[in-house]
Amino acid sequence: MTHSDDLFARAQAVTPGGVHSPVRAFRRVGGAPVFINSARGSRLEDVDGRQYVDFCMAFGPLILGHAHPMVLKAVTAAAARGWSYGAAEAGSLELAELITGRLPWVEQLRFVNSGTEAVMTALRLARAATGRSRVLKFDGCYHGHVDSMLIRAGSGLAGGVADSAGITPGVAGDTLVLPLDDTSALATLFAACGSELAAAIIEPLPANHGLLPQRQEFLDALAWQCQQHGVLLIFDEVITGFRTAFGGMAEITGIRPDLVTYGKIVGGGFPVGAFGGRREIMQLVAPLGPVYQAGTLSANPVAMAAGLATLRQLADGTAYLALEDNGRLLDELLRDLRGVRLQRVGSLFWLVLDDREAEGPLRTPAGLSAAAAARFPEFFHALLAAGIYLPPSPYEVGFLSTAHTEDDLRSLAAAIAIGAAQ
Ligand code: PLP
Repeated sequence: MTHSDDLFARAQAVTPGGVHSPVRAFRRVGGAPVFINSARGSRLEDVDGRQYVDFCMAFGPLILGHAHPMVLKAVTAAAARGWSYGAAEAGSLELAELITGRLPWVEQLRFVNSGTEAVMTALRLARAATGRSRVLKFDGCYHGHVDSMLIRAGSGLAGGVADSAGITPGVAGDTLVLPLDDTSALATLFAACGSELAAAIIEPLPANHGLLPQRQEFLDALAWQCQQHGVLLIFDEVITGFRTAFGGMAEITGIRPDLVTYGKIVGGGFPVGAFGGRREIMQLVAPLGPVYQAGTLSANPVAMAAGLATLRQLADGTAYLALEDNGRLLDELLRDLRGVRLQRVGSLFWLVLDDREAEGPLRTPAGLSAAAAARFPEFFHALLAAGIYLPPSPYEVGFLSTAHTEDDLRSLAAAIAIGAAQ
């Protein structure tokens, strides 16, 4: 028994599945999760003293790596001044000014505590702004555990089917689900019921069922349909915001969403989400308008300090060039390997365990074969044994950070070669 095994046994007695978020339980890869004791830079150390090069990076917030010195300094200084006021303070103002000053589609924003909260409120706001009930989402995108987003495709215009127990048929019926990458399905749905939709929400670079880059043409068609039918376009940039570029996919695609949601990097690894968009929509939020939203810990000063320190490191854009260089090196190191394919956009990567000839990237969830997913557990454990910590699921993407060195990438590639050969 390792110390991790021991802790996991205890955790299962007091917490469902022994974890506080399901993927951490290693159910997709088997075995017991490793319990982490500390982290710095690109490294994790578990409670048994084993070290790993981390390519999960807390599922995205840590674009600067673990315990970045500037973030640590800002957080420590903020905590020394008290860590929660429940009152107005200047850190959230500075962070809001930095974001709204840089991203023209975010005229106003509000900070919340998670990506889920940001999505939940953005949807409420869209319904209030349009006076409509239904929303459109896309199969393969994840938007947090908001009731109306835990829905998969159902029977056409009748609405979707709940993916989780505890969701009312009414909520499921108000969520319509379309496939990604299908412009004609978009046209058909908008023609049939565009006028009933409050919003269409999409991860503009879907990164929750592997990495499924969308064609610009598809995203343009969605934006156009929304505009034609008075539907608010919500870009869920919880993963991609401040990751693919400072302005995320809105910057890269040039598409201006009506509302946008952020999380992860915006809090530098602390619990922060944000929703924002056009001023006239945001003015509907309490206390100015009728859309209620509040939070005891919203814009927590320590979390705001972490977000501000992180975004300040990213603001001049050089971090993205370094991340892209590392990404290209990874492309090169894996180019001739058999049995594994890399789908990568900037510092987001996905390892697909098949030998399919490249006919362009996978763009829909259907592209990942059952056989490729089934190979993942053994692959994951081979890498873990070699000191590489990947996200523990074939459907999760990996994250590069500015703390990863060339040596880290070479270690990753060497371990992948071993894992793929098994
Ligand atoms: N939206 C997207 C695109 C996400 O990837 C996630 C989480 O991974 C969420 C929303 C939910 O964010 P959180 O886990 O902070 O609630």
